[in-house]
Amino acid sequence: MIDRELNFFGKKPLLYLVATPIGNLGEMTPRALDVLKEVDFVACEDTRNSGSLLKKFGIDKAFISCHEHNEEEASNKIIGLLKEGKKVAYMSDAGYPTVSDPGERLTKRCIEAGIKVSVINGPSAAICGLVGSGLEANHFYFYGFLPSKPSARRKELEALKTREDTIVFYEAPHRIGDTLSDMAKILGEDRKAVVARELTKQHEEYIRGTLGEMALLDESTLIGEMVIIVEKAKTIAKTLSNDEIVDLLKEKLESLSSKEAIKEVAKEQGISKNVVYDVYLENFKN
Ligand code: SAM
Repeated sequence: MIDRELNFFGKKPLLYLVATPIGNLGEMTPRALDVLKEVDFVACEDTRNSGSLLKKFGIDKAFISCHEHNEEEASNKIIGLLKEGKKVAYMSDAGYPTVSDPGERLTKRCIEAGIKVSVINGPSAAICGLVGSGLEANHFYFYGFLPSKPSARRKELEALKTREDTIVFYEAPHRIGDTLSDMAKILGEDRKAVVARELTKQHEEYIRGTLGEMALLDESTLIGEMVIIVEKAKTIAKTLSNDEIVDLLKEKLESLSSKEAIKEVAKEQGISKNVVYDVYLENFKN
């Protein structure tokens, strides 16, 4: 039987997972501050970073270090404290814990130990970059960091090449040039992309263009933190049946001339104009 208990009622302990600013401190939410003031311990990725962040808000707490290299032992300590009735919140250096950051193992271990979790929302670099990119945001795939080894990175990009969802990547400044150039070669020079840089900070910038253009950017101007958002792959021509082309043409013909409709369908689907023209002749020409 599924064991249920409301998060803010009942007897089970609860771990707070707190999202923190990705740059602009004005994005620290009042709710996050309330929780951080209320808990007995703040577990965090880096006690110095979190210490100086909380100091700015006048919060002085006992910290527990819980990062990539000690997450297992730290989780045991945190679970012990929660079971004793202590209140604990976990935060990473920026944005949401667990998203390309530590906290996933801790969360999993807490859930296995019958501890509830509650997320205190805040900024996320991925969502912020995606929203400002202007690329399709209804369906997207969050990839995070590509492998740093060139061969492994290229292999991953090959696997992502035909994915028909906008893709969101994180990247470090020292790898941005190589990554953009591999993306242009593998995902396609004509594919639209956005580099969202220094989000929420003074030098925030959205660089928009094709991957081919991105690969030519002067790397010395790509400084700070960056999210790369890449347009979804075009539907592969071979997967389109004649009936599907007919439907697409019908839709376009409502507002466009036959010539324009054929051109648009071919362009949007990445298929030859002749193929679309033949379907048009067969189905729409008396
Ligand atoms: N947990 C974080 C989140 O929820 O957004 C992500 C942490 S991950 C270690 C750091 C990466 O996030 C950076 O390398 C960059 O790709 C992205 N990032 C973080 N802050 C950013 C910002 N202000 N502007 C653009 N990208 C940012």
